[in-house]
Amino acid sequence: MEEDFEEWKDRFIRYLKDQSSSTTLDDNENEQEAYPELDFKIEFENEENGFNNTHHHYPSSEITASTKFYFSNFNSLCVEKRELRSDTSNGSTIHLEFDISNLKTINYETADNLAILPKISEEVVNRVGDVLGYDLTSYFKISPILNKKKKFKFPFPTPTTIQTFLTNYCDLISIPRRSTITSILPYITDEGEYQNCKRLVKDKDCWKTEVEEMKRSFYEILELFPSLEIPLDHFIHVCPKLQPRYYTISSSSKVSPNIIHITVSVIREELDDLSTSDFPSHYEEDDDRVFHGVCTTYLSNLDPHYDSIQMFIRESSFFHPESLSTPLILIGPGFGLNHQPSIFIYTFYVSFFRNWICSYESIATREI
Ligand SMILES: Cc1cc2nc3c(=O)[nH]c(=O)nc-3n(C[C@H](O)[C@H](O)[C@H](O)COP(=O)(O)OP(=O)(O)OC[C@H]3O[C@@H](n4cnc5c(N)ncnc54)[C@H](O)[C@@H]3O)c2cc1C
Repeated sequence: MEEDFEEWKDRFIRYLKDQSSSTTLDDNENEQEAYPELDFKIEFENEENGFNNTHHHYPSSEITASTKFYFSNFNSLCVEKRELRSDTSNGSTIHLEFDISNLKTINYETADNLAILPKISEEVVNRVGDVLGYDLTSYFKISPILNKKKKFKFPFPTPTTIQTFLTNYCDLISIPRRSTITSILPYITDEGEYQNCKRLVKDKDCWKTEVEEMKRSFYEILELFPSLEIPLDHFIHVCPKLQPRYYTISSSSKVSPNIIHITVSVIREELDDLSTSDFPSHYEEDDDRVFHGVCTTYLSNLDPHYDSIQMFIRESSFFHPESLSTPLILIGPGFGLNHQPSIFIYTFYVSFFRNWICSYESIATREI
């Protein structure tokens, strides 16, 4: 619940900022386009300042609430993956299983949600590394700049590599907000590209056709401006953070306490090509643009018994009536039916064992 509130709060604040920027952008032009004053700095590892490998402990008061799941999650091995459709020409639905037997602090209840921290594909990370001119293997850490009025909170754990930062923490795939692209304007060094970006963010119709209708991902927009020179700390500041995806657990904790099952519909959508756009792509691969859902694509590429996921459990507000004879109406409000198998399995399990226990008791207590 608390995470939901934090997520909602962040989205609401971003929405308000977007709304205000759409009406007052010109008035605030200078303010919008100034470099922000950061309350943290980054330090790269080199021969003189080798970071030690012991992991920094972050008290919860030092962590950004909306990304606290980056600091507290569990690794769980994928032990099964199989396609559920006999014909995948119209899409793919996969069944996945994750082993939690070694996670003593994790329990789940029937119909809880499995929260999965997805990862951005290597191809996209390499493309972003190229356009931003970053060495993906560089190892860096974040430290607060002291004496600031507001207490600094860590957005994600460091030391880490730029590759891990882009893969695990940056939302490079979603369609970005206008305010995010406005904040990269000051770092575009070529005048023509700068004017193009300015048109994109200041002309509402242009933004609607070129970004929203063309469904451009954040990384595709970054690629429109190859002269972009944004230092890593500033990119950390502006980049939207990757959010966990929730999956209704389709196994029952009564039957399968150590293995969690989920059923996932893999997202894949063909997109318009950009050749006739005012902002064509520089990449030949983009002639056939296809949108791949971040988490479902990541899950569909897992190698069972080899790959682990980062996850946590979120409690469901669903509860079972005590009596099995109480009729249930199960409503799928558009986000799937996955809790239903788990409830059927649970109901079957409980009724089977109750009957069995009753029969056992009647036999055991029968007078011979
Ligand atoms: C409580 C709850 C339970 C859920 N249970 C299940 C479940 O059991 N099984 C299941 O399969 N799902 C479930 N979901 C949905 C799941 O959490 C994910 O939202 C879903 O799997 C898509 O994730 P993704 O990262 O693959 O897609 P994302 O990358 O998040 O994309 C999601 C959608 O955003 C749009 N989009 C975003 N960016 C772009 C872009 N650049 N270009 C084009 N389109 C874009 C697309 O329309 C796409 O369909 C549940 C959700 C909730 C809230």
